[in-house]
Amino acid sequence: MKIFCIGKNYAAHVIEMGGDPNAKPVVFMKPATALLLENKPFYIPDFSEEVHYEVELLIKICKNGKHVQPAYAHTYYEKIGLGVDFTARDLQAKCKANGHPWEVAKAFDQSAVIGKWMDKSAVNVEDLSFSLQKNGEEVQRGHTSHMMFNIDQIICYLSQYFTLQTGDLIFTGTPEGVGPVKAGDQLQGFMHIGGKDELCFDFQVR
Ligand code: MG
Repeated sequence: MKIFCIGKNYAAHVIEMGGDPNAKPVVFMKPATALLLENKPFYIPDFSEEVHYEVELLIKICKNGKHVQPAYAHTYYEKIGLGVDFTARDLQAKCKANGHPWEVAKAFDQSAVIGKWMDKSAVNVEDLSFSLQKNGEEVQRGHTSHMMFNIDQIICYLSQYFTLQTGDLIFTGTPEGVGPVKAGDQLQGFMHIGGKDELCFDFQVR
């Protein structure tokens, strides 16, 4: 199982990170040991002074594929979810400054939070909003219409380089509003479906 992550997929977040909103998506991966499931608490690692939340829509690949064509991309996933791409922002800044890979900042244990999965058929993927609350206050809100590369385009793009396999996960990028966590914070993620707030994850930072 592979966990793909897309960076730079919402223009406003790219600008807040000082990047070029016209660039191609950044792709990186996390190992299976990064998964944090079932609303278990997230423990801030001792190697970082600045761990940031990044709420992101997720998809789960449902069949194997290579060089997926745009007309068929939507058939490669049936489940959509919400998660957090935890990022050691201080380490990431050093990696960027040195031109090094990001793994120590992005792929550490518990850095891939996965919430509840929904059937794709239950949502309008092209018109879906989601949000993150920290201690009951909204800190991020995203909408799929603001993605620079939509889910089908991401599937096609990734499959040019990597064989997609059943069970692979894709983090589709974070909207603006990323920020730090500290011990005691409570993070809740919501999808907003048909006027209702669907709680997708709810866990504590320790
Ligand atoms: Mg991210």
